[in-house]
Amino acid sequence: MLNLKNIKKTYHTGGFSQHALKDFSLQFRQNEFVAILGPSGSGKTTLLNIIGGLDRYDSGDLIINNKSTKKFKSIDWDFYRNNCVGFIFQNYNLISHISVLENVEMGMTLSGVGKKEKRKKAKELLERVGLKQHINKKPNQLSGGQMQRVAIARALANDPDIILADEPTGALDTKISRQIMELIASIAKDKLVIMVTHNKELAEEYATRIVKMQDGEIIEDTNPIAKDESNDKMFQIRKTAMNFFTALNLSFNNIKTKKGRTALTSFAASIGIIGIALILALSNGFKIEIDEFEKDSLSDAPIIISEQAMTMNEEMMMNMQVNKDRKEFSDSKKVYIQEDILEQLMHTNYITDEYIDYLGEIDKKYISGVSYQKSTALNLITHIEDKYELVSTTNAVNPWTLLPTNPNKKEKGVIDNNYDVIAGKIDDEKPGLILQVDSRNQIYESTLKQLGLSGKTVDFDDILNQELKLVLNDDYYMQVDDYFIPNPDLESLYNNENSISIKVQAIVRCKEDKKMLANGSGIAYTNSLTELVISKNKDSAIVNVQKEKDYNVLTHQPFDEESMTNNKKVFLGYLGAESIPNIIYIYPNSFESKDYITDYLDKYNEKKEEKDKIEYTDMAGMISSLSGNIMDAITIVLVAFSSISLIVSSIMIGIITYISVLERTKEIGILRALGARKKDIKRVFMAETFIVGIFSGTLGILIARLLVIPANIIIEDLSDLANVAKMNPIHAIVLVIISVILTMISGFIPARVASNKDPVESLRTE
Ligand code: ADP
Ligand code: MG
Repeated sequence: MLNLKNIKKTYHTGGFSQHALKDFSLQFRQNEFVAILGPSGSGKTTLLNIIGGLDRYDSGDLIINNKSTKKFKSIDWDFYRNNCVGFIFQNYNLISHISVLENVEMGMTLSGVGKKEKRKKAKELLERVGLKQHINKKPNQLSGGQMQRVAIARALANDPDIILADEPTGALDTKISRQIMELIASIAKDKLVIMVTHNKELAEEYATRIVKMQDGEIIEDTNPIAKDESNDKMFQIRKTAMNFFTALNLSFNNIKTKKGRTALTSFAASIGIIGIALILALSNGFKIEIDEFEKDSLSDAPIIISEQAMTMNEEMMMNMQVNKDRKEFSDSKKVYIQEDILEQLMHTNYITDEYIDYLGEIDKKYISGVSYQKSTALNLITHIEDKYELVSTTNAVNPWTLLPTNPNKKEKGVIDNNYDVIAGKIDDEKPGLILQVDSRNQIYESTLKQLGLSGKTVDFDDILNQELKLVLNDDYYMQVDDYFIPNPDLESLYNNENSISIKVQAIVRCKEDKKMLANGSGIAYTNSLTELVISKNKDSAIVNVQKEKDYNVLTHQPFDEESMTNNKKVFLGYLGAESIPNIIYIYPNSFESKDYITDYLDKYNEKKEEKDKIEYTDMAGMISSLSGNIMDAITIVLVAFSSISLIVSSIMIGIITYISVLERTKEIGILRALGARKKDIKRVFMAETFIVGIFSGTLGILIARLLVIPANIIIEDLSDLANVAKMNPIHAIVLVIISVILTMISGFIPARVASNKDPVESLRTE
């Protein structure tokens, strides 16, 4: 069954060749107890290692079951070792960090024997070698004789047909040696046992055959096999494989023996994770906080449609960059036309009746109101202490800030929702002014002057009692040749019977929860005042425009023909019978509704030509996308920085795994002797890094979670925001996974080194 044919094995060390086996031929019976005797260095161990498939022969052949092993691959040898051969070593070679029972089970674990069966078999074997009481001990808690008994039990575990024992009693005293010999002899009853020994007496007493060796050759064989001897029993080579769970268990036990170091490694490795987790928790928390704040404060912000709209999108931002086609400081003798960036960005909206109708069809469940704002020229004159003063002639622009007024009575509520009336009473039916103060009851001095008042503080009553006269355009402008100029005689204008007396009806201030509006102040006027001015000024305004093309009489600004025709519609819109509004505010009733509204507005533009498009300004959207982008950018930069520490710790784990490989070299040898494949060894170390990875990842998350507490206290101290940092559970899980992946990557090289170790050399290390 086992036949060595002309085996040669030579070791080469530093230019020197040692012929350990020289043309060695030997045949073994199915069942015998062979003792190999010979002086030290005669090649006995080499012989056993070759028979056991731990070492490879250089030439010749080892025939197992009449089958040549010349073509055996590494994995065939692994299977062969696992279930055909049992090794017993002089120095026992037990795995020190697992129990006696687990040591015996290991070979079966490798060949995939079920847990129950494995345990039962291991217990039986340990009972047979007389160690029933000691199964849960660790090997170092046993005596030498006991350890050798464990090794014998282990060698028997997979029912091998061959037991190879290399000086099994070499480290034991005579009495114990005899006991061990008895045990081995009993095994030899139904197996082939090949035992190397120094002890001639023991060999002669127990062995059935003695082979003497010298210098890698046989010098005596007491019971050689006759030519005609039959030798036909076959043994089977079963496949082995260590599953990942076994590898995990093995590594976990090993890690348990060095708790302190593992804890430190994991802690060091977790620092990167801690950093990233904290940053993500903070940015996640801030994002939630900003989102909520925006929802709170920006949900009331209207979508604004005005005559001039800024249309800034990402594409335009790209185009705004320097024109790279044109060289700086070139010798060109030409002047080039530069595109006006502002012109590109500004879009003139021509608001039409069609558009107003379109807006009227917005689903009412998404909006809390729409306000249409019209501006008109107001000529207001004050009379204080015999002095007459003109306080406004401009279109109703700054500082005549307009409160959104609502011509459509059915959609009332914009003012009611946003403002508190803190003095007086608004009567929209009557022409009048409304003074808007900011959240601190402040207005600009110029605003106060517009009302014909002065001082550092003014009583509400003084404001409400102040009377102004509104002069209509027909009276205000007088014709001189072809021009219309304002009438300088303010007193006669003030006392003109057409002039209308108006007062500040009410003082309003934004509601406390409408922070967006907190800084606004100025004067607005009631709808009926607007309507009145439009109706009374209508004819004159149109006449003025049509007669006088050089000047815009209402604003006293030069007005060329082209811009005149361009702006005609808008211009007439101010004052014409259609009285199209020049600013429209659409108030979404929630942050979510805003998207519906902007989609609805976008739809209007879909089939329109560029010049007919109506662009809107969505401040809330711009602010939130801006803040979101900034947050993302900051997070990415910080995470990138912390990633450096993650990489450093990965390298460290690689080094530590490598040290572990060096420390566990012996274990690698033992596992290989028991039939572990290279792959299995790799798994053991990958498992170790897996454990460290999970451990350090989880530790990192836990520490980061704890650090979130003081971080939140500090933030609350600085910003009044409570519980900002919030860890997203998905981030936590992803980070643990990243940690595992990184440590496994860094453990890969050491694991490969381990799996490529020569089993014989590994076993020889101490
Ligand atoms: P024994 O077990 O009979 O003492 P060995 O089989 O261990 O002898 O060794 C046989 C010869 O081969 C010795 O001279 C030994 O020095 C040499 N040898 C064994 N293993 C190696 C090795 N890995 N490298 C170099 N020489 C070796
Ligand atoms: Mg030896």
